[in-house]
Amino acid sequence: MATVKEQFGSLVFDDRVMKASLDAKVYASLKKTIDEGKELDLTVANAVAAAMKDWAVAHGATHYTHWFQPLTGVTAEKHDSFISPAPDGGVIMEFSGKELIKGEPDASSFPSGGLRATFEARGYTAWDPTSYAFIKGKTLCIPTAFCSYGGEALDKKTPLLRSMEALNVQALRILKLFGNDTVKRVTSSVGPEQEYFLVDKEMYNKRKDLIYTGRTLFGAKPPKGQEMDDHYFGVIKPRVAAYMEDLNEELWKLGILAKTEHNEVAPAQHELAPIYTTTNIATDHNQLTMEIMQKVAAKHGLVCLLHEKPFAGVNGSGKHNNWSIATDAGQNLLSPGETPYENAQFLLFLCAVIKAVDDYQDLLRISVATAGNDHRLGANEAPPAVVSIFLGDELNAVLEAIENDTPYQGAKKTTMKLGSDVLPKFNRDTTDRNRTSPFAFTGNKFEFRMLGSSNSIACANIMLNTAVAESLKIYADRLEGVADFETALHDMIKKTIKDHKRIIFNGNGYDDSWIKEATEKRGLCNYRTTADCMPHILDEKNVRILTSHKVFSEVELKSRYEIMLENYCKTVMIEACTMVDMAKKQILPAVSAYTTDLAESVGKKLKLGTDIACKYEKEAVKKLSILCDKIAEATDLLEGTLVKIKAAESIGEESEMIRDAVLVAMSELRVACDEAETMTAEKYWPFPTYGELLFGVR
Ligand code: ADP
Ligand code: MG
Repeated sequence: MATVKEQFGSLVFDDRVMKASLDAKVYASLKKTIDEGKELDLTVANAVAAAMKDWAVAHGATHYTHWFQPLTGVTAEKHDSFISPAPDGGVIMEFSGKELIKGEPDASSFPSGGLRATFEARGYTAWDPTSYAFIKGKTLCIPTAFCSYGGEALDKKTPLLRSMEALNVQALRILKLFGNDTVKRVTSSVGPEQEYFLVDKEMYNKRKDLIYTGRTLFGAKPPKGQEMDDHYFGVIKPRVAAYMEDLNEELWKLGILAKTEHNEVAPAQHELAPIYTTTNIATDHNQLTMEIMQKVAAKHGLVCLLHEKPFAGVNGSGKHNNWSIATDAGQNLLSPGETPYENAQFLLFLCAVIKAVDDYQDLLRISVATAGNDHRLGANEAPPAVVSIFLGDELNAVLEAIENDTPYQGAKKTTMKLGSDVLPKFNRDTTDRNRTSPFAFTGNKFEFRMLGSSNSIACANIMLNTAVAESLKIYADRLEGVADFETALHDMIKKTIKDHKRIIFNGNGYDDSWIKEATEKRGLCNYRTTADCMPHILDEKNVRILTSHKVFSEVELKSRYEIMLENYCKTVMIEACTMVDMAKKQILPAVSAYTTDLAESVGKKLKLGTDIACKYEKEAVKKLSILCDKIAEATDLLEGTLVKIKAAESIGEESEMIRDAVLVAMSELRVACDEAETMTAEKYWPFPTYGELLFGVR
């Protein structure tokens, strides 16, 4: 068997393979493109394509695809084979530089939010050479961006790359001010921790809700849920362990640095974390990870649920986006430094993040908004829908000392003067323990915890990168050319703390009193649903930063607004239709059959003697009959709301009707059905229960 070292990256056309298979000049030119964003010329592309094809064919590939991330939320690929007819009647395997650099999938069925009129339905894909090509099955996959013919982005990679560039430009300006002239590039890095559930495939197949929507739409609370906390970091069951082992192997072959895995809080819930890497590669890898997780599960008779809230009353699944920014020399700009000057620089970057998160809390909320994640944010385990920052006591004390010009206890009880005092060494552990904060500083990185488990991490990082780029731009504009840099720097840090401390909250984010304080006293946004937050993507201030840093054009933003709301509406509509279907065809017949059998048994029992009262049966028949009527009524009501929705005149109006009418009617139907489940004999219930799903994998 191959060792991990041999396996790792064996299906990736990575630097090792490039170096070995390209001639030195071609390699150097490609490297320049990758490292410095230089344009790739066609002769180089031809040489790279030929080497890539030979390598892929040697590894069993017969096809290639431009692999991209349209706005559907999943990845897309269209396979073309390498074969080309040869004059002797056979075939040769061919792949040109042109085919490598650019593809033209017929893109008319991908969401474009009105960007692409049907007469110009074609879009094109363009190779992102900063993300390595890899082999999946028998196909060479080339990571690409996806644009319309007018050049508008139709995917998530394009704006992500643009946001990374914006951050790079502004961060370099700041580093120059601190005398750093050698740094060439600043890049953001991400390590996304991925949560998921595993359920038995046979049970899954019996639940239409899981099949159609990825989450359970019915299900009474089982006698045991997660109250014992005995699953968290618990011993991993053999079937799950075998799955994880297989999964790691598949991910390693693709060069994905899967590192840790453990059980999560809820039964049947687990987590996988990779080692962090450059944001756009981390994004590609996370998409691949989600895909491979599902594939490997199928091999083990399991289904991997990536939905944010597969089970009501049980913790949902999120994704922790660990984010930092570093120079090409490897300096982490969010790491407190060793010298006073480095410390001042660290504090400035820290302030840039604080300001960014406060000024653009709405964009961060929007970046994680989906119908699925709405069930999680604000429920009792996830961060609330209110964005705030956790800094930890020590760092908080430092900021307070700067704000008030008071002595900082840790630093020899003297007033902190930026640029001349050394910051105290922080104990990392003390900053890492707040699990309820949506946005926590954890020693040398920020952990953004509002992402849903099925979200692409692209959106969150687009907003984060751009918002921080904007803070840095404002700082650089002010500091470039000032006579007394240190005083100006000190004043600006102080002003940021004063202006933006409302976003800092070190307490318990799950507490109701916090939501009250956040919204009423501090004026922070609390957008509970996708329908509430999405319109704000078009607020003037948001359009202004996203367009001024060239991350989105105005038309792209409008199209994204449409697509995100369309996705929200469609998702909920499918759920509602599934509920109606299950209620009518499965739940009502089951409850009614049980009630009828009970009623018949009353007749039979009564014949047995005058002292038999059948109190239990009669009572149950009565209650169940009432419930049956209630379920039927709630089903009608839900169907009625679905009809009314058709009258909506805009996607905004439709999303509000979904929020105010459809979701409410769904929840009423569910309550009645779940109550019926608790009173219906097990053998009548038409699909696996919560208990069976959550404890069914051994
Ligand atoms: P935990 O959050 O569970 O305490 P760690 O802090 O070790 O675990 O790391 C969680 C994730 O954060 C991992 O994916 C790790 O690679 C990533 N990470 C660590 N350092 C950085 C960094 N500087 N930038 C981005 N991600 C990082
Ligand atoms: Mg973590």
